[in-house]
Amino acid sequence: MSEDRIAAELYPEARRWDASVGSFLSAYVGHATEGEFRTRGSSGGLVSWVAAELLRRGLIDGVAHVVPRSCEEDDGRLFAYAISRTEAELQGGAKSRYYPVELSQVLREMRKVPGRYAVIGIPCFIKAVQLLRREDTILRERIAFTLGLFCGHMKSAQMVDSFAWQMGAAPADVAAIDYRLKDERRPANWYTAQITLRDGSTRRKDWWHLADGDWGAGFFMNPACNFCDDVTAETADIAMGDAWLEPYSSDGRGTNVVVVRSPIVQEIVAEARADGRLSLDPVDADFIARTQAAGLRQRREGLSYRLARSKLAVRPKKRVAPSLRLPRRRKLIYRMRMAISRWSPRLFRLARLLRWPALYTQGARMALSSYHGLAYSRGILGNLVDLWLDPARRDGD
Ligand SMILES: Cc1cc2nc3c(=O)[nH]c(=O)nc-3n(C[C@H](O)[C@H](O)[C@H](O)COP(=O)(O)OP(=O)(O)OC[C@H]3O[C@@H](n4cnc5c(N)ncnc54)[C@H](O)[C@@H]3O)c2cc1C
Repeated sequence: MSEDRIAAELYPEARRWDASVGSFLSAYVGHATEGEFRTRGSSGGLVSWVAAELLRRGLIDGVAHVVPRSCEEDDGRLFAYAISRTEAELQGGAKSRYYPVELSQVLREMRKVPGRYAVIGIPCFIKAVQLLRREDTILRERIAFTLGLFCGHMKSAQMVDSFAWQMGAAPADVAAIDYRLKDERRPANWYTAQITLRDGSTRRKDWWHLADGDWGAGFFMNPACNFCDDVTAETADIAMGDAWLEPYSSDGRGTNVVVVRSPIVQEIVAEARADGRLSLDPVDADFIARTQAAGLRQRREGLSYRLARSKLAVRPKKRVAPSLRLPRRRKLIYRMRMAISRWSPRLFRLARLLRWPALYTQGARMALSSYHGLAYSRGILGNLVDLWLDPARRDGD
């Protein structure tokens, strides 16, 4: 069942529609002005603000979202879904976690403990929740709101281990990670990762100094993301992402883009705008799409190409048609990204087995410079690719 069909059933009032954004009532760019939400959030703090407002209004009893775990817990996982029932708990879980998680525990808790809940999740999780709500009457009643996070792709837990290696630490010593340390003095899109070790010390590095820190190159991407076509959490009551467009991307305080689909949430947002608790300017679907241009290219044009090349026994039915009709350079970019996503976890595992971190980091650096040559015409390889493929063009990803 496609996101379009699910959204049409859930949000009949959302009559605006766009191929990149799905159905929606309204769209905005801005941030939370109330309290510490923006400072504590990865972006403009709106996801935590909306969840907190639903709690404060008594519309829900709990929020299922992803929170840090104590490093004492025996499975060594750094994050997990949990249900926060107070604003303080909720705020403690702010920030983006590019880390694999699953919903079974919180779904069990929602079934066991009566109440109304909101679920925060990336698009595939929200879609899964909506499909489950169609079959499960208890969860249909209890999951009263869904808050979506825009998504480029999900990373594996190995990325944390790799970051640790590159910061001179042993993966086993990592107790916590902040993927996006906030620094108001620097552009929002200059990500800095900070790890906290078991002895309490911290280490940090900018993503662009990390061999696998270019998000778009696809290191440690979950393979399922190759077949996803939902960037803006099209089946969520409200979905939020980062405003990756100037002047917002240069504003280190963080700015959200927001797509509202549910009339109740629309009312809440409108009231808060009027009270000055949210600073939001209306935008159109094209603006939202431009903030996610690279992600949408990968999930539309790139997906269409991957579907046409797919040798899977079952070819997933998506909202774009399979096609090989692309410029040669674009095809190579998509193939390279797929190769990086496929090989980075394998090479990492081998390097770990051999206790030879450089095997992975050097391999990743080589892959990254080839990707940068292909995608951004960087370095000698970039010049050669330009000469070979399209001398006139120097495009991005
Ligand atoms: C894997 C992933 C990929 C993303 N890709 C993009 C992208 O391509 N483009 C874009 O614009 N934005 C993307 N985002 C969203 C972006 O990183 C911010 O989360 C979003 O802008 C909200 O910021 P905020 O300050 O409003 O949220 P905050 O106030 O920081 O609150 C974030 C809330 O989300 C919860 N949360 C964090 N990680 C997860 C998770 N994995 N699953 C479920 N809940 C979680 C937290 O517990 C917290 O409640 C991605 C997020 C994730 C997790």
